[in-house]
Amino acid sequence: RRNPTLICAPLMADTVDQMLSLMQKAKLSGADLVEIRLDWLKSFNPRTDITNLIKHCPLPTLFTYRPIWEGGQYAGDEKSRLDALRLAMELGADHIDVELKAIDEFNDSVHGYRPAKCKVIVSSHNYHNTPSSEDLGNLVARIQASGADIIKIATTALDITDVSRVFQITVHSQVPIIAMVMGERGLMSRVLCPKFGGYLTFGTLDSGKVSAPGQPTIEDLLNLYSFRQLGPDTKIYGVIGKPVSHSKSPKLYNEAFKSVGFNGVYIHLLVDDVGKFFETYSSTDFAGFSCTIPHKEDALKCCDEVDPVAKSIGAVNCLVRRPTDGKLFGCNTDHIGAITAIEDGLRGSRHFSESPLAGKLFVVIGAGGAGKALAYGAKEKGARVVIANRTYERAREIADTVGGQALSLSDLDTFHPENGMILANTTSIGMQPKVNETPISKEALKHYALVFDAVYTPKITRLLGEALETGAKIVTGIEMFIGQAYEQYERFTGLPAPKELFRKIAA
Ligand code: NAP
Repeated sequence: RRNPTLICAPLMADTVDQMLSLMQKAKLSGADLVEIRLDWLKSFNPRTDITNLIKHCPLPTLFTYRPIWEGGQYAGDEKSRLDALRLAMELGADHIDVELKAIDEFNDSVHGYRPAKCKVIVSSHNYHNTPSSEDLGNLVARIQASGADIIKIATTALDITDVSRVFQITVHSQVPIIAMVMGERGLMSRVLCPKFGGYLTFGTLDSGKVSAPGQPTIEDLLNLYSFRQLGPDTKIYGVIGKPVSHSKSPKLYNEAFKSVGFNGVYIHLLVDDVGKFFETYSSTDFAGFSCTIPHKEDALKCCDEVDPVAKSIGAVNCLVRRPTDGKLFGCNTDHIGAITAIEDGLRGSRHFSESPLAGKLFVVIGAGGAGKALAYGAKEKGARVVIANRTYERAREIADTVGGQALSLSDLDTFHPENGMILANTTSIGMQPKVNETPISKEALKHYALVFDAVYTPKITRLLGEALETGAKIVTGIEMFIGQAYEQYERFTGLPAPKELFRKIAA
Protein backbone atom coordinates (compact mmCIF):
# COMPACT_ATOMS: atom_id res chain seq x y z
CA ARG A 1 0.00 0.00 0.00
CA ARG A 2 1.39 3.38 -0.99
CA ASN A 3 -0.71 5.80 1.09
CA PRO A 4 -2.27 6.30 4.53
CA THR A 5 -5.63 7.65 3.24
CA LEU A 6 -8.60 5.82 4.75
CA ILE A 7 -11.80 4.56 3.16
CA CYS A 8 -14.86 5.34 5.24
CA ALA A 9 -18.20 3.60 4.66
CA PRO A 10 -21.16 5.84 5.52
CA LEU A 11 -23.84 3.71 7.21
CA MET A 12 -27.40 4.84 6.70
CA ALA A 13 -30.04 2.61 8.28
CA ASP A 14 -33.39 2.96 10.08
CA THR A 15 -32.57 0.71 13.01
CA VAL A 16 -29.61 -0.06 15.26
CA ASP A 17 -29.77 -3.73 14.24
CA GLN A 18 -29.44 -2.82 10.59
CA MET A 19 -26.50 -0.55 11.48
CA LEU A 20 -24.84 -3.46 13.26
CA SER A 21 -25.19 -5.70 10.23
CA LEU A 22 -23.95 -2.98 7.84
CA MET A 23 -20.80 -2.65 9.97
CA GLN A 24 -19.94 -6.26 9.28
CA LYS A 25 -20.56 -5.72 5.59
CA ALA A 26 -18.29 -2.66 5.65
CA LYS A 27 -15.51 -4.67 7.24
CA LEU A 28 -15.86 -7.44 4.65
CA SER A 29 -15.86 -4.96 1.78
CA GLY A 30 -12.47 -3.58 2.88
CA ALA A 31 -13.44 -0.24 4.49
CA ASP A 32 -11.08 1.17 7.16
CA LEU A 33 -13.76 2.84 9.26
CA VAL A 34 -17.50 3.43 9.33
CA GLU A 35 -19.48 6.62 9.63
CA ILE A 36 -22.51 5.96 11.81
CA ARG A 37 -25.17 8.38 10.65
CA LEU A 38 -27.26 8.74 13.81
CA ASP A 39 -29.63 11.07 11.98
CA TRP A 40 -30.81 8.14 9.81
CA LEU A 41 -31.97 6.06 12.82
CA LYS A 42 -35.74 6.31 13.29
CA SER A 43 -35.21 6.22 17.05
CA PHE A 44 -32.49 5.25 19.50
CA ASN A 45 -31.56 5.40 23.13
CA PRO A 46 -28.36 7.45 23.20
CA ARG A 47 -26.57 5.73 26.06
CA THR A 48 -27.42 2.08 25.44
CA ASP A 49 -27.43 2.17 21.63
CA ILE A 50 -24.23 4.18 21.18
CA THR A 51 -22.49 1.87 23.69
CA ASN A 52 -23.78 -1.09 21.73
CA LEU A 53 -22.74 0.33 18.36
CA ILE A 54 -19.20 1.09 19.56
CA LYS A 55 -18.80 -2.24 21.32
CA HIS A 56 -19.84 -4.33 18.34
CA CYS A 57 -18.21 -2.35 15.58
CA PRO A 58 -15.42 -4.36 13.92
CA LEU A 59 -13.88 -1.12 12.60
CA PRO A 60 -13.00 2.31 14.04
CA THR A 61 -16.02 4.58 14.24
CA LEU A 62 -17.05 8.07 13.19
CA PHE A 63 -20.30 9.38 14.66
CA THR A 64 -22.23 11.96 12.68
CA TYR A 65 -25.61 13.37 13.67
CA ARG A 66 -26.34 15.61 10.71
CA PRO A 67 -29.11 18.19 11.15
CA ILE A 68 -31.44 19.19 8.32
CA TRP A 69 -29.83 22.61 8.15
CA GLU A 70 -26.55 20.97 7.08
CA GLY A 71 -28.10 18.50 4.62
CA GLY A 72 -28.89 15.68 7.08
CA GLN A 73 -32.06 14.06 8.44
CA TYR A 74 -32.18 15.27 12.05
CA ALA A 75 -34.96 17.75 12.75
CA GLY A 76 -34.92 17.80 16.58
CA ASP A 77 -33.49 20.26 19.07
CA GLU A 78 -29.84 21.22 19.08
CA LYS A 79 -29.12 20.39 22.71
CA SER A 80 -30.13 16.70 22.39
CA ARG A 81 -28.10 16.43 19.21
CA LEU A 82 -24.91 17.79 20.74
CA ASP A 83 -25.51 15.74 23.91
CA ALA A 84 -25.56 12.56 21.80
CA LEU A 85 -22.31 13.51 20.04
CA ARG A 86 -20.64 14.30 23.35
CA LEU A 87 -21.82 10.98 24.72
CA ALA A 88 -20.36 9.15 21.70
CA MET A 89 -17.06 10.91 22.39
CA GLU A 90 -17.10 9.87 26.05
CA LEU A 91 -18.14 6.30 25.28
CA GLY A 92 -15.13 5.69 23.04
CA ALA A 93 -15.95 6.84 19.48
CA ASP A 94 -12.79 7.22 17.42
CA HIS A 95 -14.12 10.29 15.62
CA ILE A 96 -17.11 12.56 15.90
CA ASP A 97 -18.24 15.06 13.27
CA VAL A 98 -19.42 18.47 14.50
CA GLU A 99 -20.59 21.11 12.02
CA LEU A 100 -18.67 24.38 11.96
CA LYS A 101 -21.94 26.20 12.70
CA ALA A 102 -22.33 24.21 15.93
CA ILE A 103 -18.72 23.89 17.08
CA ASP A 104 -18.71 26.89 19.47
CA GLU A 105 -21.76 25.59 21.29
CA PHE A 106 -20.26 22.10 21.36
CA ASN A 107 -16.94 23.39 22.74
CA ASP A 108 -18.76 25.34 25.45
CA SER A 109 -20.72 22.26 26.45
CA VAL A 110 -17.65 20.05 26.94
CA HIS A 111 -15.82 22.64 29.08
CA GLY A 112 -12.54 21.88 27.39
CA TYR A 113 -12.71 18.14 28.07
CA ARG A 114 -11.89 15.90 25.13
CA PRO A 115 -10.72 12.31 25.49
CA ALA A 116 -7.40 11.88 23.69
CA LYS A 117 -8.72 8.90 21.72
CA CYS A 118 -11.48 10.83 20.01
CA LYS A 119 -10.67 13.05 17.06
CA VAL A 120 -13.09 15.87 16.43
CA ILE A 121 -13.87 16.51 12.76
CA VAL A 122 -15.24 20.00 12.19
CA SER A 123 -17.24 20.04 8.97
CA SER A 124 -18.73 22.45 6.50
CA HIS A 125 -20.99 21.48 3.59
CA ASN A 126 -21.87 23.61 0.62
CA TYR A 127 -24.57 22.13 -1.62
CA HIS A 128 -24.60 25.03 -4.08
CA ASN A 129 -21.10 25.55 -5.42
CA THR A 130 -17.36 25.56 -4.71
CA PRO A 131 -16.16 28.95 -3.44
CA SER A 132 -13.06 30.77 -4.71
CA SER A 133 -9.63 29.71 -3.47
CA GLU A 134 -9.56 32.72 -1.16
CA ASP A 135 -12.93 31.92 0.39
CA LEU A 136 -11.97 28.26 0.76
CA GLY A 137 -8.74 29.32 2.47
CA ASN A 138 -10.68 31.49 4.91
CA LEU A 139 -13.11 28.67 5.61
CA VAL A 140 -10.28 26.25 6.36
CA ALA A 141 -8.65 28.84 8.66
CA ARG A 142 -11.90 29.26 10.58
CA ILE A 143 -12.30 25.51 10.98
CA GLN A 144 -8.70 25.18 12.11
CA ALA A 145 -9.15 28.00 14.64
CA SER A 146 -12.18 26.22 16.10
CA GLY A 147 -9.87 23.54 17.46
CA ALA A 148 -10.58 20.85 14.88
CA ASP A 149 -8.41 17.76 14.97
CA ILE A 150 -9.50 17.12 11.39
CA ILE A 151 -10.97 19.58 8.90
CA LYS A 152 -13.81 18.52 6.62
CA ILE A 153 -15.07 20.58 3.71
CA ALA A 154 -17.53 19.33 1.16
CA THR A 155 -18.50 21.58 -1.73
CA THR A 156 -20.44 21.07 -4.95
CA ALA A 157 -18.85 20.84 -8.40
CA LEU A 158 -20.57 22.98 -11.02
CA ASP A 159 -17.57 22.39 -13.25
CA ILE A 160 -14.77 19.81 -13.06
CA THR A 161 -12.21 22.61 -12.62
CA ASP A 162 -13.74 23.36 -9.18
CA VAL A 163 -11.94 20.25 -7.93
CA SER A 164 -8.53 21.79 -8.55
CA ARG A 165 -9.09 24.49 -5.89
CA VAL A 166 -10.00 21.80 -3.40
CA PHE A 167 -6.86 19.79 -4.26
CA GLN A 168 -4.80 22.94 -3.59
CA ILE A 169 -6.42 23.31 -0.18
CA THR A 170 -5.78 19.63 0.63
CA VAL A 171 -2.13 19.78 -0.36
CA HIS A 172 -1.47 22.89 1.72
CA SER A 173 -3.46 22.08 4.85
CA GLN A 174 -1.42 21.96 8.05
CA VAL A 175 -4.14 19.93 9.77
CA PRO A 176 -5.42 16.55 8.52
CA ILE A 177 -8.17 17.30 6.04
CA ILE A 178 -11.12 15.64 4.34
CA ALA A 179 -11.96 17.66 1.26
CA MET A 180 -14.65 16.43 -1.12
CA VAL A 181 -16.37 17.94 -4.12
CA MET A 182 -19.85 16.52 -4.51
CA GLY A 183 -21.57 15.56 -7.77
CA GLU A 184 -20.46 13.67 -10.89
CA ARG A 185 -18.11 16.50 -11.86
CA GLY A 186 -16.36 16.09 -8.51
CA LEU A 187 -15.57 12.37 -8.81
CA MET A 188 -11.84 13.07 -9.11
CA SER A 189 -11.77 14.59 -5.61
CA ARG A 190 -13.02 11.32 -4.12
CA VAL A 191 -10.77 8.96 -6.06
CA LEU A 192 -7.54 10.95 -6.03
CA CYS A 193 -7.42 12.07 -2.41
CA PRO A 194 -4.53 9.68 -1.57
CA LYS A 195 -2.46 11.43 -4.21
CA PHE A 196 -3.05 14.82 -2.61
CA GLY A 197 -2.86 13.62 0.99
CA GLY A 198 -6.51 13.64 2.12
CA TYR A 199 -7.29 12.00 5.47
CA LEU A 200 -10.14 9.86 4.16
CA THR A 201 -12.60 9.37 1.34
CA PHE A 202 -16.13 8.00 1.49
CA GLY A 203 -17.00 4.78 -0.32
CA THR A 204 -20.47 3.28 -0.37
CA LEU A 205 -21.40 -0.33 0.26
CA ASP A 206 -23.60 -0.61 -2.79
CA SER A 207 -24.09 1.61 -5.78
CA GLY A 208 -27.67 2.55 -4.91
CA LYS A 209 -27.31 4.24 -1.54
CA VAL A 210 -25.05 7.29 -1.17
CA SER A 211 -24.84 9.79 1.66
CA ALA A 212 -23.72 12.54 -0.72
CA PRO A 213 -23.90 12.87 -4.52
CA GLY A 214 -21.02 11.39 -6.52
CA GLN A 215 -19.75 8.83 -4.01
CA PRO A 216 -18.07 5.80 -5.60
CA THR A 217 -18.52 2.31 -4.17
CA ILE A 218 -15.81 0.78 -1.97
CA GLU A 219 -15.59 -1.98 -4.55
CA ASP A 220 -14.74 0.55 -7.29
CA LEU A 221 -12.26 2.42 -5.09
CA LEU A 222 -10.37 -0.75 -4.26
CA ASN A 223 -10.66 -2.75 -7.47
CA LEU A 224 -11.35 -0.34 -10.31
CA TYR A 225 -9.10 2.50 -9.13
CA SER A 226 -6.56 0.49 -7.06
CA PHE A 227 -6.99 3.08 -4.29
CA ARG A 228 -4.35 1.55 -2.00
CA GLN A 229 -1.70 1.90 -4.68
CA LEU A 230 -2.27 5.60 -5.38
CA GLY A 231 0.42 7.97 -4.17
CA PRO A 232 1.90 11.43 -4.77
CA ASP A 233 3.67 10.26 -7.94
CA THR A 234 0.71 8.40 -9.47
CA LYS A 235 -0.03 9.74 -12.95
CA ILE A 236 -3.60 10.70 -13.80
CA TYR A 237 -5.33 9.62 -17.03
CA GLY A 238 -8.96 9.80 -18.02
CA VAL A 239 -11.69 9.97 -20.59
CA ILE A 240 -13.06 13.45 -21.29
CA GLY A 241 -16.65 13.55 -22.48
CA LYS A 242 -20.20 14.65 -21.82
CA PRO A 243 -21.90 12.34 -21.06
CA VAL A 244 -19.10 10.05 -19.98
CA SER A 245 -20.30 7.77 -17.17
CA HIS A 246 -21.16 4.96 -19.65
CA SER A 247 -17.56 4.69 -20.88
CA LYS A 248 -15.83 1.35 -20.39
CA SER A 249 -12.41 2.95 -20.76
CA PRO A 250 -11.63 3.29 -17.01
CA LYS A 251 -12.11 -0.44 -16.54
CA LEU A 252 -9.99 -1.24 -19.56
CA TYR A 253 -7.01 1.00 -18.77
CA ASN A 254 -7.00 0.47 -15.01
CA GLU A 255 -6.99 -3.32 -15.42
CA ALA A 256 -4.16 -3.01 -17.90
CA PHE A 257 -2.19 -0.66 -15.60
CA LYS A 258 -2.69 -3.10 -12.75
CA SER A 259 -1.56 -6.08 -14.82
CA VAL A 260 1.92 -4.58 -15.24
CA GLY A 261 2.14 -2.52 -12.03
CA PHE A 262 2.04 0.79 -13.94
CA ASN A 263 1.71 3.70 -11.51
CA GLY A 264 -1.29 5.42 -13.07
CA VAL A 265 -5.03 5.76 -12.54
CA TYR A 266 -7.68 6.32 -15.23
CA ILE A 267 -10.96 8.07 -14.42
CA HIS A 268 -14.20 9.37 -15.93
CA LEU A 269 -13.89 13.12 -16.48
CA LEU A 270 -17.22 14.88 -17.02
CA VAL A 271 -16.06 18.02 -18.82
CA ASP A 272 -18.20 20.92 -20.02
CA ASP A 273 -15.47 23.14 -21.43
CA VAL A 274 -12.30 21.43 -22.70
CA GLY A 275 -10.32 24.67 -23.00
CA LYS A 276 -10.91 25.50 -19.35
CA PHE A 277 -10.14 21.92 -18.35
CA PHE A 278 -6.70 21.86 -19.97
CA GLU A 279 -5.87 25.35 -18.71
CA THR A 280 -6.64 24.28 -15.15
CA TYR A 281 -5.09 20.82 -15.14
CA SER A 282 -1.84 21.72 -16.83
CA SER A 283 0.66 19.92 -14.61
CA THR A 284 2.49 16.83 -15.82
CA ASP A 285 0.56 14.83 -13.20
CA PHE A 286 -2.33 14.93 -15.68
CA ALA A 287 -0.52 12.75 -18.15
CA GLY A 288 -2.95 11.53 -20.80
CA PHE A 289 -6.54 11.72 -21.97
CA SER A 290 -8.95 9.96 -24.23
CA CYS A 291 -11.49 12.29 -25.75
CA THR A 292 -15.03 11.45 -26.75
CA ILE A 293 -18.34 13.12 -27.69
CA PRO A 294 -18.70 16.09 -28.01
CA HIS A 295 -15.16 17.35 -27.46
CA LYS A 296 -12.92 15.79 -30.13
CA GLU A 297 -12.83 18.87 -32.32
CA ASP A 298 -12.41 21.43 -29.52
CA ALA A 299 -9.70 19.31 -27.92
CA LEU A 300 -7.61 19.62 -31.07
CA LYS A 301 -7.48 23.39 -30.52
CA CYS A 302 -6.03 22.83 -27.03
CA CYS A 303 -3.01 20.86 -28.30
CA ASP A 304 0.47 22.32 -28.60
CA GLU A 305 1.24 19.81 -31.32
CA VAL A 306 -1.10 17.75 -33.48
CA ASP A 307 -0.31 14.63 -35.46
CA PRO A 308 -0.75 15.28 -39.23
CA VAL A 309 -3.44 12.60 -39.58
CA ALA A 310 -5.48 14.07 -36.71
CA LYS A 311 -5.03 17.49 -38.31
CA SER A 312 -6.53 16.29 -41.59
CA ILE A 313 -9.34 14.55 -39.73
CA GLY A 314 -9.90 17.72 -37.71
CA ALA A 315 -10.37 15.82 -34.45
CA VAL A 316 -8.25 14.22 -31.74
CA ASN A 317 -9.32 11.35 -29.52
CA CYS A 318 -6.04 10.96 -27.63
CA LEU A 319 -3.93 13.59 -25.89
CA VAL A 320 -0.61 12.90 -24.24
CA ARG A 321 1.30 15.37 -22.07
CA ARG A 322 5.04 15.37 -22.57
CA PRO A 323 6.64 14.75 -19.16
CA THR A 324 9.59 17.05 -19.87
CA ASP A 325 7.79 20.31 -20.62
CA GLY A 326 4.08 19.59 -20.13
CA LYS A 327 3.25 20.21 -23.80
CA LEU A 328 0.08 18.53 -25.08
CA PHE A 329 0.36 16.28 -28.09
CA GLY A 330 -2.87 15.25 -29.84
CA CYS A 331 -3.51 12.41 -32.23
CA ASN A 332 -6.37 10.36 -33.61
CA THR A 333 -6.47 6.62 -33.14
CA ASP A 334 -10.18 6.21 -33.99
CA HIS A 335 -9.72 5.19 -37.60
CA ILE A 336 -6.96 2.66 -36.92
CA GLY A 337 -9.04 0.13 -35.02
CA ALA A 338 -12.12 0.43 -37.23
CA ILE A 339 -10.33 0.29 -40.57
CA THR A 340 -8.18 -2.68 -39.51
CA ALA A 341 -11.26 -4.56 -38.28
CA ILE A 342 -13.12 -3.85 -41.52
CA GLU A 343 -10.13 -5.02 -43.56
CA ASP A 344 -9.94 -8.21 -41.51
CA GLY A 345 -13.68 -8.73 -41.98
CA LEU A 346 -13.35 -8.41 -45.77
CA ARG A 347 -10.27 -10.58 -46.02
CA GLY A 348 -11.65 -13.51 -44.06
CA SER A 349 -9.05 -16.24 -44.30
CA ARG A 350 -7.67 -15.03 -47.62
CA HIS A 351 -4.51 -12.98 -47.88
CA PHE A 352 -4.26 -9.90 -50.02
CA SER A 353 -1.12 -7.93 -50.40
CA GLU A 354 -3.05 -4.70 -50.94
CA SER A 355 -5.93 -3.48 -48.76
CA PRO A 356 -9.23 -5.21 -49.56
CA LEU A 357 -10.73 -1.72 -49.30
CA ALA A 358 -8.94 -0.54 -52.43
CA GLY A 359 -11.44 0.44 -55.10
CA LYS A 360 -14.48 -0.34 -52.92
CA LEU A 361 -17.36 2.08 -52.48
CA PHE A 362 -17.30 3.01 -48.78
CA VAL A 363 -20.37 4.76 -47.34
CA VAL A 364 -19.90 6.59 -44.05
CA ILE A 365 -23.01 7.67 -42.12
CA GLY A 366 -22.26 10.66 -39.90
CA ALA A 367 -19.94 13.63 -40.15
CA GLY A 368 -18.68 14.03 -36.61
CA GLY A 369 -15.26 13.09 -35.24
CA ALA A 370 -15.71 9.36 -35.86
CA GLY A 371 -17.20 9.94 -39.32
CA LYS A 372 -14.27 12.07 -40.41
CA ALA A 373 -11.80 9.55 -39.04
CA LEU A 374 -13.38 6.67 -40.95
CA ALA A 375 -13.73 8.65 -44.16
CA TYR A 376 -10.07 9.60 -43.93
CA GLY A 377 -8.95 6.07 -43.06
CA ALA A 378 -10.95 4.49 -45.91
CA LYS A 379 -9.65 7.03 -48.41
CA GLU A 380 -6.11 6.32 -47.31
CA LYS A 381 -6.67 2.65 -48.16
CA GLY A 382 -7.81 3.49 -51.67
CA ALA A 383 -11.59 3.29 -51.20
CA ARG A 384 -14.06 5.60 -52.98
CA VAL A 385 -15.76 7.45 -50.13
CA VAL A 386 -19.37 8.64 -49.77
CA ILE A 387 -20.52 10.57 -46.70
CA ALA A 388 -24.19 10.58 -45.72
CA ASN A 389 -25.23 12.92 -42.96
CA ARG A 390 -28.41 14.37 -41.45
CA THR A 391 -26.93 17.85 -41.94
CA TYR A 392 -25.92 17.74 -45.59
CA GLU A 393 -23.48 20.69 -45.36
CA ARG A 394 -21.30 18.81 -42.87
CA ALA A 395 -21.16 15.83 -45.21
CA ARG A 396 -20.25 18.21 -48.05
CA GLU A 397 -17.38 19.66 -46.01
CA ILE A 398 -15.80 16.28 -45.33
CA ALA A 399 -16.37 15.09 -48.88
CA ASP A 400 -14.52 18.17 -50.12
CA THR A 401 -11.62 17.70 -47.72
CA VAL A 402 -11.20 13.96 -48.14
CA GLY A 403 -12.20 13.80 -51.77
CA GLY A 404 -15.54 12.02 -52.06
CA GLN A 405 -19.26 12.33 -52.58
CA ALA A 406 -21.76 13.85 -50.14
CA LEU A 407 -25.28 12.63 -49.51
CA SER A 408 -28.16 13.63 -47.32
CA LEU A 409 -29.04 10.89 -44.84
CA SER A 410 -32.60 10.85 -46.17
CA ASP A 411 -31.31 9.79 -49.62
CA LEU A 412 -29.39 6.83 -48.29
CA ASP A 413 -32.20 4.28 -48.68
CA THR A 414 -32.36 4.84 -52.44
CA PHE A 415 -28.61 5.10 -52.97
CA HIS A 416 -27.30 1.95 -54.65
CA PRO A 417 -25.03 2.66 -57.61
CA GLU A 418 -23.51 -0.82 -57.27
CA ASN A 419 -23.52 -3.95 -55.14
CA GLY A 420 -20.88 -5.13 -52.68
CA MET A 421 -20.53 -1.70 -50.98
CA ILE A 422 -19.29 -1.13 -47.44
CA LEU A 423 -21.35 0.75 -44.87
CA ALA A 424 -20.06 2.38 -41.68
CA ASN A 425 -22.45 3.99 -39.19
CA THR A 426 -20.68 6.62 -37.08
CA THR A 427 -23.73 8.33 -35.59
CA SER A 428 -25.18 7.42 -32.23
CA ILE A 429 -28.37 6.13 -33.91
CA GLY A 430 -29.23 2.74 -32.33
CA MET A 431 -27.21 3.34 -29.16
CA GLN A 432 -28.75 2.44 -25.83
CA PRO A 433 -31.38 3.28 -24.77
CA LYS A 434 -32.80 3.88 -28.29
CA VAL A 435 -31.95 0.40 -29.52
CA ASN A 436 -34.89 0.25 -31.94
CA GLU A 437 -33.50 3.00 -34.16
CA THR A 438 -31.46 2.38 -37.28
CA PRO A 439 -30.01 4.77 -39.90
CA ILE A 440 -31.00 2.79 -43.03
CA SER A 441 -33.81 0.48 -44.14
CA LYS A 442 -33.22 -3.24 -44.08
CA GLU A 443 -34.18 -3.39 -47.74
CA ALA A 444 -31.31 -1.09 -48.72
CA LEU A 445 -28.80 -3.24 -46.86
CA LYS A 446 -28.80 -5.91 -49.57
CA HIS A 447 -26.43 -3.78 -51.63
CA TYR A 448 -23.74 -3.98 -48.96
CA ALA A 449 -21.12 -6.70 -48.51
CA LEU A 450 -20.02 -5.51 -45.07
CA VAL A 451 -21.65 -3.32 -42.42
CA PHE A 452 -19.78 -1.70 -39.55
CA ASP A 453 -21.37 0.11 -36.59
CA ALA A 454 -19.34 2.43 -34.31
CA VAL A 455 -22.01 2.11 -31.63
CA TYR A 456 -20.98 -0.57 -29.14
CA THR A 457 -23.78 -0.49 -26.61
CA PRO A 458 -25.45 -2.85 -27.51
CA LYS A 459 -22.81 -4.95 -29.22
CA ILE A 460 -25.24 -6.07 -31.94
CA THR A 461 -27.29 -3.01 -32.88
CA ARG A 462 -30.48 -3.20 -34.90
CA LEU A 463 -28.40 -2.18 -37.94
CA LEU A 464 -25.98 -5.07 -37.46
CA GLY A 465 -28.77 -7.55 -36.74
CA GLU A 466 -30.54 -6.64 -39.99
CA ALA A 467 -27.26 -6.72 -41.91
CA LEU A 468 -26.68 -10.27 -40.72
CA GLU A 469 -30.19 -11.21 -41.86
CA THR A 470 -29.51 -9.85 -45.35
CA GLY A 471 -26.30 -11.86 -45.54
CA ALA A 472 -23.72 -9.10 -45.09
CA LYS A 473 -20.59 -9.49 -43.01
CA ILE A 474 -20.56 -7.37 -39.88
CA VAL A 475 -17.94 -5.63 -37.76
CA THR A 476 -18.98 -4.37 -34.32
CA GLY A 477 -18.07 -1.16 -32.51
CA ILE A 478 -16.26 -3.25 -29.92
CA GLU A 479 -13.53 -3.94 -32.52
CA MET A 480 -13.11 -0.21 -33.09
CA PHE A 481 -13.11 0.44 -29.37
CA ILE A 482 -10.41 -2.13 -28.69
CA GLY A 483 -8.30 -1.06 -31.64
CA GLN A 484 -8.23 2.62 -30.70
CA ALA A 485 -7.56 1.68 -27.08
CA TYR A 486 -4.44 -0.39 -27.97
CA GLU A 487 -3.00 2.61 -29.71
CA GLN A 488 -3.78 4.99 -26.86
CA TYR A 489 -2.43 2.65 -24.19
CA GLU A 490 0.89 2.40 -25.97
CA ARG A 491 1.11 6.18 -26.26
CA PHE A 492 0.16 6.68 -22.60
CA THR A 493 2.53 4.15 -21.10
CA GLY A 494 5.21 3.48 -23.70
CA LEU A 495 4.40 -0.20 -23.14
CA PRO A 496 2.82 -2.73 -25.50
CA ALA A 497 -0.94 -3.06 -24.88
CA PRO A 498 -2.13 -6.31 -23.27
CA LYS A 499 -4.36 -7.22 -26.20
CA GLU A 500 -5.84 -10.41 -24.79
CA LEU A 501 -6.79 -8.64 -21.57
CA PHE A 502 -8.44 -5.77 -23.50
CA ARG A 503 -10.43 -8.21 -25.57
CA LYS A 504 -11.60 -10.09 -22.48
CA ILE A 505 -12.71 -6.91 -20.68
CA ALA A 506 -14.44 -5.31 -23.67
CA ALA A 507 -16.30 -8.45 -24.76
P1 NAP B 1 -20.16 13.60 -32.98
O1 NAP B 1 -18.90 14.26 -33.37
O2 NAP B 1 -21.06 14.24 -32.00
O3 NAP B 1 -20.99 13.29 -34.35
C1 NAP B 1 -22.28 12.80 -34.30
C2 NAP B 1 -22.79 12.52 -35.73
O4 NAP B 1 -23.98 11.78 -35.60
C3 NAP B 1 -23.13 13.75 -36.53
O5 NAP B 1 -22.83 13.51 -37.88
C4 NAP B 1 -24.64 13.88 -36.32
O6 NAP B 1 -25.30 14.48 -37.43
C5 NAP B 1 -25.04 12.45 -36.26
N1 NAP B 1 -26.25 12.22 -35.47
C6 NAP B 1 -26.38 12.24 -34.13
N2 NAP B 1 -27.64 11.96 -33.77
C7 NAP B 1 -28.33 11.73 -34.92
C8 NAP B 1 -29.66 11.38 -35.20
N3 NAP B 1 -30.56 11.20 -34.22
N4 NAP B 1 -30.03 11.24 -36.49
C9 NAP B 1 -29.14 11.41 -37.48
N5 NAP B 1 -27.85 11.74 -37.27
C10 NAP B 1 -27.44 11.90 -36.00
O7 NAP B 1 -19.85 12.15 -32.39
P2 NAP B 1 -18.62 11.16 -32.69
O8 NAP B 1 -17.54 11.41 -31.73
O9 NAP B 1 -18.32 11.17 -34.13
O10 NAP B 1 -19.26 9.75 -32.27
C11 NAP B 1 -20.36 9.22 -32.98
C12 NAP B 1 -20.73 7.81 -32.50
O11 NAP B 1 -19.64 6.91 -32.67
C13 NAP B 1 -21.10 7.71 -31.02
O12 NAP B 1 -22.20 6.86 -30.89
C14 NAP B 1 -19.88 7.08 -30.37
O13 NAP B 1 -20.23 6.34 -29.22
C15 NAP B 1 -19.38 6.20 -31.47
N6 NAP B 1 -17.94 5.97 -31.35
C16 NAP B 1 -17.53 4.68 -31.13
C17 NAP B 1 -16.19 4.41 -31.01
C18 NAP B 1 -15.76 3.01 -30.79
O14 NAP B 1 -14.62 2.81 -30.37
N7 NAP B 1 -16.59 2.04 -31.05
C19 NAP B 1 -15.24 5.43 -31.13
C20 NAP B 1 -15.70 6.74 -31.37
C21 NAP B 1 -17.05 6.98 -31.49
P3 NAP B 1 -25.41 16.09 -37.60
O15 NAP B 1 -24.13 16.53 -38.24
O16 NAP B 1 -26.60 16.27 -38.48
O17 NAP B 1 -25.62 16.66 -36.22
